[in-house]
Amino acid sequence: MSVIKKNLERINDRIYRAARKVGRDPDEVRLVAVSKRIGFELVNEAFSHGQRLFGENYLQEAVDKISLLDPGIKWHFIGHLQSNKVALAAGAFDMIETVDRLKVARALDRHMQEKRSTLSVLVQVNIGREPQKSGVLPEDARELLQNLAELKNIQVRGLMVMPPYLPDPEAVRPYFKQTRELALSLQDMGFFADEKPALSMGMSGDYEVAIEEGATLVRVGTAVFGRRD
Ligand SMILES: *Cc1c(COP(=O)(O)O)cnc(C)c1O
Repeated sequence: MSVIKKNLERINDRIYRAARKVGRDPDEVRLVAVSKRIGFELVNEAFSHGQRLFGENYLQEAVDKISLLDPGIKWHFIGHLQSNKVALAAGAFDMIETVDRLKVARALDRHMQEKRSTLSVLVQVNIGREPQKSGVLPEDARELLQNLAELKNIQVRGLMVMPPYLPDPEAVRPYFKQTRELALSLQDMGFFADEKPALSMGMSGDYEVAIEEGATLVRVGTAVFGRRD
């Protein structure tokens, strides 16, 4: 049996069980298969085994890959976005998970306005306050969301985080918890498009803990496709 098929089955099973463990509906959690630096043949294989949502970090690599694959696939951008590249990103992706500053958001909004359309985004928060990482600082999230609320052609659906890398997933749990609490307080201020904010958190090593703490999108690469070169 294909390794990718087996991996997807195992991950989907673990997603189901992690959700049930804390009394959540497993259908609230979606697997974003992270396919950065993975060739389109393997992405297509995952698609053939039922995976319909993928995440990519590098814009040009993603655009090339997307053009070769089934148009029914949904793509999330999870890399660092520059404001001079928003047209390329908006044309290829169904969601930008990494909006972390007003300049990029305004450029996206202007582009979508020209296209008379809207785009779903998440706000990336630097929940661990790590200097080398992207994301708005937690204490600045409210002001950013206040400004985003005025941009009518982007819809803010929730938050995305990449907490500090720690080998023990239990050590990451407090960051997931803080993210959920932050999202709920921002939700109370009416900053999100939906009744329940999306929470993109959890990767290969810690997605089950993230689900226990409320993740609705888990971004899993290595556990789906194996180690990247
Ligand atoms: C690479 C990457 C992932 C997936 O990481 P794995 O450990 O391979 O599951 C998730 N999110 C982002 C932003 C990434 O860059």
